[in-house]
Amino acid sequence: MKSLREILIEGAQKKTAIGHFNFSDLTAFRAIADASRELSLPVMVGLSEGERTAVSPKTAAALVSAARAEGVHIFLNADHTHSLDAAKIAAEAGFDEIIFDASRLPYEENLQQTIDAVRELKKINPELLIEGELGFIGANSQVLDVVPEESRRFTDPAQAAEFCKATGIDVLAPAVGTMHGMVRAMVSGNEHKHLDIPRIKQLSDFTGLPITLHGGSGTEDSDFVAGIEAGLRIVHVNTELRLAWREGMQQSLDELPNEIAPYKLMKNSYVRIKEIVSARLKLFNQIPY
Ligand SMILES: [Zn+2]
Repeated sequence: MKSLREILIEGAQKKTAIGHFNFSDLTAFRAIADASRELSLPVMVGLSEGERTAVSPKTAAALVSAARAEGVHIFLNADHTHSLDAAKIAAEAGFDEIIFDASRLPYEENLQQTIDAVRELKKINPELLIEGELGFIGANSQVLDVVPEESRRFTDPAQAAEFCKATGIDVLAPAVGTMHGMVRAMVSGNEHKHLDIPRIKQLSDFTGLPITLHGGSGTEDSDFVAGIEAGLRIVHVNTELRLAWREGMQQSLDELPNEIAPYKLMKNSYVRIKEIVSARLKLFNQIPY
């Protein structure tokens, strides 16, 4: 199996991105893994610190290892990890990537904490990829009433170049037009997120690193395509899956008022999540759908 680093290099040549999907239960995990296997496309699964309270780092690593043994080209990421202690636990559990996120701190503190994190985490596993974050992309993958004002402050490419060089990170998460979560008009499909494509190109050129798009849910398809062309190599989608999980469960509860078998009630969530993951993986890999 190719390493995540190799997949990202290949993506730069082929102008594709690997899809990253969060999970916090077995239904979403199976839906993501099955979509990846059926399309023969690599995929990343991620757990935020909150999601790691539902699925422990060691459990997640065991699930990924089992899926690999079943032929799924799957990688595990510790999404938005705010403390070095939590990052070390993920590194020791065998994660492929860790997002060390000190982006809420002033620039100098973010820089110093990220330098320290890269040094400490690479001691545990030199092959581990570390993603640093610069700029505001929001906190929670939920349905929002308004777009947060801070999300209009985008990452400066020159500062990003300095940040990447000084920290030694492998991947950069900048603010380029998205934020975590979706506003209601995006859930109904009446509104979409738009990306600052020239900025993505500059960030890619200035840093020479793969760029990750966070908060991809609700982004216009053509923006995804142009963003990947410009340098996005990892694209995160979470809120769309959470909505699908909930809507699928609601449908099951409505249709099967007397059913109590969890795996039967989960069926609609599984089907909906898998549909979204399949469509996104095809889009990110330039496969018509
Ligand atoms: Zn994120």
